[in-house]
Amino acid sequence: MKLTFLGCGDGFSVEQGHNSAIVTFADTNLCIDFPESNHVSLHQMGMKLNEVEHIFVTHLHEDHVNGLQKLALFHRVYPGKAKPKLYVPAGLRDDLWQILRHGLELTTRGKRVFEDYFDVECVEDAFEIAGVRFELIRTQHVPEMLSYGLLCKPYFYFSGDTRLDETYINKVAGEVETIFHECHMQDDQLPSHTSLEELLPLPEAIQEKMLLMHYVDDYVRAEARDPFHGRHKLRLAEPLRGYDWQNGGDESR
Ligand SMILES: [Zn+2]
Ligand SMILES: [Zn+2]
Repeated sequence: MKLTFLGCGDGFSVEQGHNSAIVTFADTNLCIDFPESNHVSLHQMGMKLNEVEHIFVTHLHEDHVNGLQKLALFHRVYPGKAKPKLYVPAGLRDDLWQILRHGLELTTRGKRVFEDYFDVECVEDAFEIAGVRFELIRTQHVPEMLSYGLLCKPYFYFSGDTRLDETYINKVAGEVETIFHECHMQDDQLPSHTSLEELLPLPEAIQEKMLLMHYVDDYVRAEARDPFHGRHKLRLAEPLRGYDWQNGGDESR
């Protein structure tokens, strides 16, 4: 199993893609979120949009879903092996179609519904692809907004957008090899996200498992990354870099 970041950026990133990753395993793939910037990143990886087979949506902020309309249209015009399968937390299904339908419902060949574009599976707690189980973990992003992380034991926990849930992170650290956690890397505190200040008191053994994502563009550059890596156990995830568990958690391009 390998996870490659299509972007590690926050909602305003322009120098890297918005936060999203593609997990490849058992001859298939799963994208976690699908921002518009994925189109460029997948192209850079030599992949076409119609090769995306599964997508999971963590929440409905536009930097996580604003590439889905183009993905849907591309699959209709250039069909892949099958319609992309979309795993949507059950409570988000109708709102997601409301976001997408303005560009997808009316076509020259008549009216279309959500299921014409995607094989939609509403998920309550977990879903399975090729025998691999992915569990939804409710996160603490914006009060009352439904938002989820994704747990794939024993490989990884992917936090999605969230404030730090220290109790959960302490627990899940014993169940996975790698924690992909969001961290905005800005000096000020953002009430819906996690700051570096909050992560630094975590036990070193947990920090060593962590790769930070959803950060400001400043940290795409080596001038900011290298000193950070020199000072901390925490590491920054890198766009288009793969994290491969079959090779003992090695990072590869
Ligand atoms: Zn975001
Ligand atoms: Zn968000």
